[in-house]
Parts: sequence; structure tokens; C-alpha cells
Amino acid sequence: MALRCLNNMRSVIGLIQQLKVMRRSISIAAQTLNKHSSIPAVRVFSGIQPTGVPHLGNYLGALESWVGLQENYSSILYSIVDLHSITVPQDPAQLRKNILDVTASLLACGIDPSRVILFQQSQVSEHAELCWILGCLTSMPRLRHLPQWKIKSKQKNEGSVGLYTYPVLQAADILLYRSTHVPVGEDQVQHLELAQDTARIFNNQYGEIFPEPQALLSSMRKVKSLRDPTSKMSKSDSQKLATVHLTDSPEDIVLKFRKAVTDFTSEVTYDPERRPGVSNLVAIHAAVTGLSVEAVVEQAHGLDTARYKQVVADTVVQKLTPIRDQIQKLRADVGYLETVLAHGASRARELAAPVLRQVQKLVGFC
Ligand code: ATP
Ligand code: MN
Repeated sequence: MALRCLNNMRSVIGLIQQLKVMRRSISIAAQTLNKHSSIPAVRVFSGIQPTGVPHLGNYLGALESWVGLQENYSSILYSIVDLHSITVPQDPAQLRKNILDVTASLLACGIDPSRVILFQQSQVSEHAELCWILGCLTSMPRLRHLPQWKIKSKQKNEGSVGLYTYPVLQAADILLYRSTHVPVGEDQVQHLELAQDTARIFNNQYGEIFPEPQALLSSMRKVKSLRDPTSKMSKSDSQKLATVHLTDSPEDIVLKFRKAVTDFTSEVTYDPERRPGVSNLVAIHAAVTGLSVEAVVEQAHGLDTARYKQVVADTVVQKLTPIRDQIQKLRADVGYLETVLAHGASRARELAAPVLRQVQKLVGFC
């Protein structure tokens, strides 16, 4: 337990150190910006799509560090990015339910709406407005090779215009608040590079307004699918056994790990290139217990992969049970969840409106 806390602390401290190193250069830029306003030197922004209940990958790659960052930074926005979610087809009733489920999940993980701005993206219309302006500065070829488009347009045979321009909306989400830091999983790194390029292009063309946002990667960068360890775990994966959701029962979690794809070697080793399946289990085990990969492999000495799957499943059950219980409680209080989102949206609008106004002036609209 103590070790686990220590390692969780370590990954948060790692993030904070990254922040501190970058803070110096940003504060110079921020001082210029701050002449007429009170923009903090560090502003954190991140988002999650309401495409289902968050999973272990979301938790270890993003949400756990979102919670840790609250302790150290006063200006943080976390958004439930529903505009992004409709880039692939969504059932309206299910989408509404997912928005509330994701809200409940974030709160259950430890996001505190009195310390951060937690809001639903579509309720702040400035996101879409800034997206249009930034889209006019983005070339088509720049978007073609980005991961979301490459993966999801293949799944759907052909993708929508929205799916294609998704990273521009993501750039708008971040830049609208003049965010400096964006905690994300590894799958979002290339999208964040587009946001950096977009900030640079806008600043060069119209005048310095946006800081270049930096990625904050947690130590667990990418949790893989339990059915196909060469692709990442995803909310929108249609294979039921591929993804461990935060609301899964202990029985479901054990079943999913038991069925996890590994290989024909029974020994537990960490070799992501040659043994992606078992290495994914080791990485999950390490992230959940807070131990190092080496320590976890050492502990598993003498176990075959079948027994090891049970061990990993047990640690995941232990980690997720309190979160699951809390999600169930919060889900029952829709009124509370809606109040949290309404409050968050009004605070986000207050920050977004003046930035969009300034952008409109620079562009020549007013
Ligand atoms: P979807 O399949 O609908 O795209 P998703 O599972 O990819 O859903 P997102 O809402 O797109 O989840 O991403 C939310 C956050 O979780 C992002 O910061 C993303 O980088 C992170 N994330 C998503 N999947 C993983 C994963 N498998 N491992 C680590 N981090 C992840
Ligand atoms: Mn995604």
C-alpha cells in the first residue's frame, strides 16, 4: 500500500517537474500577455470523450494524473468533449447518458469541481467558433496522417469531415483558454503537435496571443487492448472483452483478464516488441500497484501466464472497486451531476469569451 502511494506520488511528482521546467520559459511569454489581464502562468486543459464509461487506459494514462494535478495548479479545465464524440455516429439517448456517466466517473476518480472547471464542451459555443477560424489556417495534408483519422476512418470505411478536422477542434479546445499544459495519453501526442503548430501559425499571422501548449505524459502512456495488444484500449472498441471499464464487476474484470490474448510462452517477462500481450499485463500491474516493471516481473517469478492473469485481475479489482462504488452512487444523483456541469460551463464561458473576442479582433471581424 505504502509503496503504491509512493509510486503514484512519484508519477505525479514527475509531471510536476516537467511543469516546473517549462514554467520558466512560459512565464516570460505569459508576462507579456499578462500586462492587461490576469492569465495564470500555467493553465492546464484536457478532455475526455463521452463515448462510454472510462476504462483502465483512460484512468492510468490520463485521469489519475488529472487528479494529481489539482493539488498543485490553480487553473485547470477538464472538459467532457461531446462535440468530438459525434465525429463517429452516436445514439442521442446513449450520448446523454454517457455525458452523465463520464461526469460521475471523473468525480468518482477524485476530480473536485470546486478546484477545477469541469464542463461539457458543447455548452461553450466558443470552442466551435474558434475551431472554424483555426481550420482556415490548417492545410488538408497536415490532417491526413493523424492517428484518430487513420484508425477510425478505416473502421467506418469512410470518415466524416468532422472526424477529419477533429484535431483542429482539439487545438481550439486547448488554445481557447490559452492553455500551457495538456495531460494526455500517448495516442494524443501528434494531435497536440498540431495544436502547437496552429498556435505558432496564428501568432505569426495575426499577433502573439497563444502560448505553445506542452504535453504532460503520465508514466503509463498507453494501455493496450486485452484482445489485440498491438492496438490501444479504447472506449469505442466493439469487442466486449478488450476493454476494462471503471464500472466493470469483479467477475467481469477477472473474465476479461483470463481471456486476455498472450502467447505460447508461459513465463512472465517484459518485452513489448516480441511479447506485447504479457507485457501489457505487466505494465498494467506495475501502474496499478505503483511498483516498477522489474519488481513486478520479479514478483511473478515462477507463475505461468494463466496464474499471473489472476494476480493482475485481483490488483485491478482492488484498485477499481472504490471508484466503481462511487460511480454508482453519483449516477443515481442526476440533479447533482447536472448542477456540476452547469456551473462548470458558466465558469468556462467567462474565460473563453474574452479570448475569442480578442481573436476576432486580430482576424479583423471587429
Ligand atoms: P474513443 O475510443 O472514443 O476515442 P478513448 O478510449 O480513446 O475513447 P478518449 O476520450 O479519446 O478515450 O481519451 C481520453 C484520454 O484518455 C486522453 O488523454 C487519451 O490520451 C487517454 N487514453 C485513451 N486511451 C488510452 C489508453 N489506452 N492508454 C492510455 N491513455 C489513454
Ligand atoms: Mn480516443
